[in-house]
Amino acid sequence: MSNINIDSEKARTFDAIVIGSGASGGWAAKELAEKGLKTLVLERGRPVEHVKDYPTTNMYPYEFEHRNQLTFKEQEENPIAASCYAYREDAKHFFVKDKEHPYVQEKPFDWIRGYQVGGKSLMWARQTQRWSDFDFEGPARDGFAVDWPIRYADIAPWYSHVERFAGISGNRDGLAELPDGDFLPAFPLNAVEDHFRKTVKEKYQGRHIISARCAHLSKPNQTHIDQGRVQCQNRILCQRGCPFGGYFSSNSSTLPWAQKTGNMTLRPFSVVHSILYDEAKGRATGVKVIDTNSKEEIDFFAPVIFINASALNTNLILLNSISSRFPQGLGNDNGLLGKYIAFHNYTAVITAEYDGLLQYKTDGRNPAGGGYIPRFRNVYKQETDFLRGYAAGFGASRAEVRDTSATGEALIENLLNPQLGPWRVNSHMMGETIPKESNHIRLDTQQKDDWGVPLLRISIDYDENDRKLRQDYYEQMSEMFQNAGFTNIKTHDDNRRPGNDIHEMGGVRMGHDPKTSLLNKWNQLHLCKNVFITDGACMTSTGTQNPTLTYMALAARAVDYAVKEMKKNGLKG
Ligand SMILES: Cc1cc2nc3c(=O)[nH]c(=O)nc-3n(C[C@H](O)[C@H](O)[C@H](O)COP(=O)(O)OP(=O)(O)OC[C@H]3O[C@@H](n4cnc5c(N)ncnc54)[C@H](O)[C@@H]3O)c2cc1C
Repeated sequence: MSNINIDSEKARTFDAIVIGSGASGGWAAKELAEKGLKTLVLERGRPVEHVKDYPTTNMYPYEFEHRNQLTFKEQEENPIAASCYAYREDAKHFFVKDKEHPYVQEKPFDWIRGYQVGGKSLMWARQTQRWSDFDFEGPARDGFAVDWPIRYADIAPWYSHVERFAGISGNRDGLAELPDGDFLPAFPLNAVEDHFRKTVKEKYQGRHIISARCAHLSKPNQTHIDQGRVQCQNRILCQRGCPFGGYFSSNSSTLPWAQKTGNMTLRPFSVVHSILYDEAKGRATGVKVIDTNSKEEIDFFAPVIFINASALNTNLILLNSISSRFPQGLGNDNGLLGKYIAFHNYTAVITAEYDGLLQYKTDGRNPAGGGYIPRFRNVYKQETDFLRGYAAGFGASRAEVRDTSATGEALIENLLNPQLGPWRVNSHMMGETIPKESNHIRLDTQQKDDWGVPLLRISIDYDENDRKLRQDYYEQMSEMFQNAGFTNIKTHDDNRRPGNDIHEMGGVRMGHDPKTSLLNKWNQLHLCKNVFITDGACMTSTGTQNPTLTYMALAARAVDYAVKEMKKNGLKG
């Protein structure tokens, strides 16, 4: 952690600045520091040191005052945070509470945030899949948003780079729509998950159930051991922070690695207010920070700036970076900053039961969560009356049933020898949403937060495409469930509000043309070449994959480009 002499401009000048220390910022910091740049990482939240700052990580259920539940008061006070499944007694200290950081919901939107060193990389569910060309080609083929300026081949080596260091478990499934990565061994499917895999393979062309791919060290190699991380213990208490470093987080992996180079200075409690722009030089010179403890305003300087504050906050920082050259926000001549926000549609769930395979049970726990069904709709050609499609999760389990109706010895016997219930199966949809200009965010013109930063106004909603896609998921999955012999199939409208998927993306999209996009193919602002955006804000469309692996790969790729260009021409081009 830093102790910078803020009175000296020299001490406030670095080779590079990274804003945000979460999943994508951690990667930018690691890559910049490894390449020898003195890198300042500015983080608005508190420090969270790996292991030391995971207070609940070894607690037993009975050690939690409310047995890991939320009190009614807490739920009432935090309807947004509490809408996230992981906001429980054991992990709530990593989540932003509703009253701490307000925003304006023009339309209902759950903005789930983690403001601390490590960001949301501490609480994430670690699902990690590569995009394929079917995703990068989507907008051009189907005529929405703008064409991505990159294709799979541009990012593939950077996926490998990230996967090898972070540690991603998975099988090499050989699917064109979900390219294989550099994997550690997969966590296996259980008997019923495998039964579903076999049925679907037999009865459907182009549909697959695979082991979920996730950022866990199923079998660490030397790269991970060098980071001080060891094998995942399958505790599935991940959202508390893992003292084994069994799953990837900035705190366990990229940040300590960057620290070890001696080139990173991490400054927590530092809210970035805006980017400083020098009109004479035609470039950004640094950032304006508000120290959250002293409320002091401090400027930091560097020739290159990476903004990784998470998608909506990155939009906010750019919108708030006003100069006479850029009166609508940095790089925003086309007025598209904050527009074409998209997200994932997680509003559908299916449950069922299975009476077969009762000779099997599940032993141990699967941190990957079971199976994953890659998108099978509209992959090779448009075949439905909605655009794009959905991926899905799939899991099966048997609950232990303890008969507590007896007393005395019989009760003890029952408690010690629980019976296994029937197999229960479930699936949840992960749908792509189409970026639209009307789904946007902007700054509130009246209200500001405690640090003088305008509040964000969020105006985002589902549309007809989302509803049709959901209906199709119900129909297709129900049929697949029936074919597998599952019974008591029930569809549930999850009724999640937009944002609850926690995969908000866009607003600073990549594209070929400065008239219709903000970033070029290197994640560089078209109009301010020394500012790079490599978090979800850069996403031109959303795909159906969990997005963080792609942000991390784009971050590493952009750093490589930025450093080479700096050496060539100082990022003026
Ligand atoms: C419960 C949960 C489950 C999830 N599951 C998955 C999953 O399975 N797979 C997947 O791909 N993704 C998942 N996600 C989403 C994933 O966590 C995010 O996509 C990822 O963390 C985004 O990385 P980021 O660097 O953009 O943002 P973050 O990790 O959120 O980091 C942003 C950082 O910037 C800081 N910051 C913000 N504003 C400022 C400012 N003005 N000045 C200084 N610092 C600032 C924040 O405090 C934060 O530390 C999940 C998230 C949650 C909460």
